[in-house]
Amino acid sequence: VTAPRLSLVQRLARTLLPARAFAAMERESREWMLECSGCGHRRSLWEMGGIRYKASGTPRMRGSCARCGTSGWHPIVRDRAA
Ligand SMILES: [Zn+2]
Repeated sequence: VTAPRLSLVQRLARTLLPARAFAAMERESREWMLECSGCGHRRSLWEMGGIRYKASGTPRMRGSCARCGTSGWHPIVRDRAA
């Protein structure tokens, strides 16, 4: 088991937020997935070092897919089963 590595913005949030709020934010951030517009491969925003909390809608994020290499704008979808 490797220790979770947090991005700068995640470490900042952990410093600023009470532990319970940080845990809730991590849980919600893990539900948001960047979905490849090419192959449908999903990666959680949290694992990519991002934060998304108390948000709705379907934003898009620029990046490239780790699986098929499709680069461009991919939708961010919420997966409540995650
Ligand atoms: Zn892909």
